[in-house]
Amino acid sequence: MSKFTDNSRPSYLSQNDLGPWGVYLQQIDRVTPYLGSLSRWIEILKHPKKILIVDVPIEHDNGEVFHYEGYRVQHNILRGPGKGGVRFHPDVTLSEIIALSGWMTIKNAAVNIPYGGAKGGIRVNPKNLSNNELMRLTRRYTNEISSIIGLNKDIPAPDVGTDMQIMSWMMDTYSTKKNYTIPGIVTGKPISIGGSFGRQKATGRGVFIIGSKIASKINLNIINSKISIQGFGNVGSVAANLFFKAGAKIVAIQDDKTTIYNPNGFNIPKLQKYVTFTRSIKDFNEGEKINDSKEFWSIPCDILIPAAIEDQITINNANNVTAKIILEGANGPTTTEADDILRDKGIILAPDVITNAGGVIVSYFEWVQNLSNLLWTEQEINLRLNNIICNAFDAIWELANTKKVSLRTAAFIIGCTRVLQAHKTRGL
Ligand code: NAD
Repeated sequence: MSKFTDNSRPSYLSQNDLGPWGVYLQQIDRVTPYLGSLSRWIEILKHPKKILIVDVPIEHDNGEVFHYEGYRVQHNILRGPGKGGVRFHPDVTLSEIIALSGWMTIKNAAVNIPYGGAKGGIRVNPKNLSNNELMRLTRRYTNEISSIIGLNKDIPAPDVGTDMQIMSWMMDTYSTKKNYTIPGIVTGKPISIGGSFGRQKATGRGVFIIGSKIASKINLNIINSKISIQGFGNVGSVAANLFFKAGAKIVAIQDDKTTIYNPNGFNIPKLQKYVTFTRSIKDFNEGEKINDSKEFWSIPCDILIPAAIEDQITINNANNVTAKIILEGANGPTTTEADDILRDKGIILAPDVITNAGGVIVSYFEWVQNLSNLLWTEQEINLRLNNIICNAFDAIWELANTKKVSLRTAAFIIGCTRVLQAHKTRGL
């Protein structure tokens, strides 16, 4: 035993509660025994490479000046530039952003695209800001993190609370600073300024692809299957729509304000239109409203899709889940204790690092198109997405069966092996 043990608890996080970073570390500990001689290098995955905390002051429309806390974390850049979204949410913490950047490292390696892992965010409720305030916040944040992002260094993308418009402002701010247009500095842009066909729907599409593959493996017919979804934003609503079109019934939906239930299934295109205007499912006039948000987890369904934020399926509700399949559209929605409960109940859990990888895979296509000044068709994008995500999933499924481990552990074995092999080959 080394005298330099347990240096994986960073001084800058609470020692009593590491938050989402603690969940990530537990997942790394679980996979370590399966990594053979590469486990010698495991600490590399337990230490984020670079953390930037920035103060983002803006003037509000009423003349008041307010300071927001922002972050950009590069967890690992051994296999390529950092890649990961930017989150605008009032509960963003440093622990959360570090954890999300770590999951990006594992995800990019698990699907074998040439990126490291990164993530950024601001502690802000974007719904409380006017469009102009949001623009000022985005531009100032981009300026503050511009010292560490870059076309070949770290490429941001949308996440919770950010969208194509925010990416456009980020791209414009960065380009203006460099005096020429650099579309590839962010992905998830509108097509008109270098975005890719298929990017907006890519994450939800990936969730649908993985869900359909698992359903066919366990002989679950998607037609008339019952699905519950937490989060009706980019990921949740696109996945809902694809399952709806395939004949499934989306029986329960929860967002940050409301839970709604309809045993006959919601009309998803109608709900999507409604949410475009109201930014919430609140007061949608179909189905019944469920007052206790915790009840959401026990609503009978075949497939459960957490597509909002971390730490949602926990020791407190995992026993109530009735689904046969859980598709992690969100990053980090399930704690390690809940993982064990779900496994003991025989529920198949498709982990975030493969299930929501569609977004970063098509972000990668967007970046490649930007670097080479090409524009691929949507059909081409979807075909390439399908190939990469299905091949990655098949390898994970096979490894899980051979090693008798969960899909999460199998995905982590593949991802960690690729990163640590790169580290070993490159050397210290
Ligand atoms: P979004 O901002 O478009 O939507 C988030 C949704 O979650 C909204 O409906 C919001 O109301 C809901 N929500 C937020 N907090 C909640 C809470 N406490 N309880 C219930 N619902 C809550 O975000 P998104 O882009 O759809 O991202 C959702 C998840 O998917 C995140 O975990 C994100 O990291 C992950 N993800 C997103 C992408 C992407 O391409 N956008 C890619 C990979 C993973």
